[in-house]
Amino acid sequence: MKRILVTNDDGVFSEGIKLLRDSLGELADVTVVAPDREQSASGHSLTLDRPLRMQMLEEKVYSVDGTPTDCVNLARQWLMKDDPPDLIVSGINFGFNLGDDVTYSGTVSATFEGSLMGIPSVAFSQEVGENFSFVPAAAFARQLLELLITKKLPPDLLLNVNVPAGEIKGVRLTRLGRRVYEQSVVERFDPRGRRYFWIAGKPVWHEDSGTDYEAIKSGCISITPLHLDLTDYRSLDSYDWLCAELNGLDDLAR
Ligand code: MN
Repeated sequence: MKRILVTNDDGVFSEGIKLLRDSLGELADVTVVAPDREQSASGHSLTLDRPLRMQMLEEKVYSVDGTPTDCVNLARQWLMKDDPPDLIVSGINFGFNLGDDVTYSGTVSATFEGSLMGIPSVAFSQEVGENFSFVPAAAFARQLLELLITKKLPPDLLLNVNVPAGEIKGVRLTRLGRRVYEQSVVERFDPRGRRYFWIAGKPVWHEDSGTDYEAIKSGCISITPLHLDLTDYRSLDSYDWLCAELNGLDDLAR
């Protein structure tokens, strides 16, 4: 039986991870290692400045007082050291993880870590809408994993899956969409008169065709294959002049 490590960024007690565990439990040997509290927007952060504690909550369910990336590390390097997971599945996140936002996402970053470890990884997020439910994403996760689990997967397989709220009209392979940069910082004062800030703002998206945002907006499940090589290959050559000028300097480090 294949082994699946399940994690998330909403915390081990979230409804999304419980449903994901239940639906994947029909297919594979599932171990849950997830943060002990919400870690949304923790990105790909790794805790190095304090010790981490892991607690067994029930059989094959563990909490860690750290980030999703910490969870994947503790699971792979310690808990499952002798029987490493064949796949890592993250989610189901409460709310979608689209486009530019994937770099903030703890849900998606857990799969970045899986990919770095050479373990095929899939992230699931459910759009928030009327009559919210994780059930559609959980059902789709089982069907997708059922297909993947029988195949020989590339070790750097990394899929970001978003499931729309409401009726599902199909599945699309997509690219990451672009968010209109509209993050706002709200200034307030506390009861003692001291200033504080809150990062706020509702994301607005460019409606480009072929993007994850467009798929979700059209009622389709979006699957975006990702990779971690952030090199801008398209513009690599356009810096030749800069490199030549720098190499022409007398002493580069003085
Ligand atoms: Mn989250």
